[in-house]
Amino acid sequence: MLVFILNAGSSSLKYQLMNPINKEVLALGICERIGIDGVLTHQFKEDGKIKKEISMPTHKEAIELVLKTLTEGEGAVISSINEIEAIGHRAVHGGEKFSASTMVTPTVIEEMRKLIPLAPLHNPANIMGMEICQDLMPGVPNVAVFDTAFHQTMPDYAYMYPLPYEQYTKHGIRKYGFHGTSHFFVSNEAQGMLDKKHNTRIIVCHLGNGSSVSAVLNGKCIDTSMGLTPVQGLMMGTRAGDVGAGAISYMMTQEGLSIDETLDIMNKKSGILGISGKSSDLREVLEGMQNGDDKCRLAVEMVAYNIKKYVGAYVAALDGIDALCFTGGIGENSALIREIVCAGLDGMGLIIDPTKNNKRSSKAKDIATNSSAARIFVIPTNEEYVIANDTYKIVSAL
Ligand code: AMP
Repeated sequence: MLVFILNAGSSSLKYQLMNPINKEVLALGICERIGIDGVLTHQFKEDGKIKKEISMPTHKEAIELVLKTLTEGEGAVISSINEIEAIGHRAVHGGEKFSASTMVTPTVIEEMRKLIPLAPLHNPANIMGMEICQDLMPGVPNVAVFDTAFHQTMPDYAYMYPLPYEQYTKHGIRKYGFHGTSHFFVSNEAQGMLDKKHNTRIIVCHLGNGSSVSAVLNGKCIDTSMGLTPVQGLMMGTRAGDVGAGAISYMMTQEGLSIDETLDIMNKKSGILGISGKSSDLREVLEGMQNGDDKCRLAVEMVAYNIKKYVGAYVAALDGIDALCFTGGIGENSALIREIVCAGLDGMGLIIDPTKNNKRSSKAKDIATNSSAARIFVIPTNEEYVIANDTYKIVSAL
């Protein structure tokens, strides 16, 4: 079965064409600057790559262009869009309504619309992607795979905020968590890599431009660091993560900021970028640190310290740990961040092996010493595979 995977954002759109049975990726790419001008980057076969600037006034033109690129010309990997048997959509916010992936129906779209206030940038783009696909490929089933679904198993005492209870009943204000497909994939892989098969206690650190940690007990999420929205939790590329409400209100008063301006600062100008004053990209900040830039040093130490604090908290939440997993651009590639996070955690049963940690590999690996009581895994995430596989399973059962 060939599944077309779509991740529609507000001005960009990522796609893959994958066979979930053998995990073969036929092509992948991204449309950027939709509604501004438009750039398509398309990768196919071993190392085929096309990059072109082409007008994409809306997501519809972008998806039409992708389908044309998949079927015609140099980058073609199928002869007709009829070869696409199902479409899997990344859907950001499923609220409390969706604890698993689901077929896209008018009711599902309606429910997603109701959740727009919780994800004002993402859900409208996701819905748009679904409706355009239904329009362009009538009869082909669409499946929604929610970022929040994996976290729906959190117990109430973990997902509730200690605000007046009616804020939850009236407005659904609680922690939802994000990056669920990645946390599911990585914790599931880790479970397979562990000798122990029952009462598995796994912590997943998904560290990329956006970052989150989750605590997974026996394959079920029991806590995660992001909240009602993705601005909570770890310090990220441009997002602040956890900051006290008092500090935020004081900043607003001192600077005369509106709520929107404040959220803009907390989402787009804080985190690694805000502290380093240099970049949101950790690689550039690590380079700055090596060149003696003290703000870059501070940003790196804060990133690692924040992760370490969550690891400690989640070891407590899980009553111990069997595996600590690193994934995402930073988690998979930065040996230094992994080293700082794990330093001194011997008492928790986590002992990192410096040689294994520094050895580069694109495959999942165990970087703990043989004597470490718990394992430390680096596991490349594969959110697209989760989307394709869920889509395949749901569509096959129709
Ligand atoms: P992602 O959002 O998962 O693509 O991750 C992007 C982040 O990973 C950026 O902050 C990159 O700087 C970081 N990253 C990628 N490769 C490396 C590397 N070799 N060392 C440190 N950070 C890296």
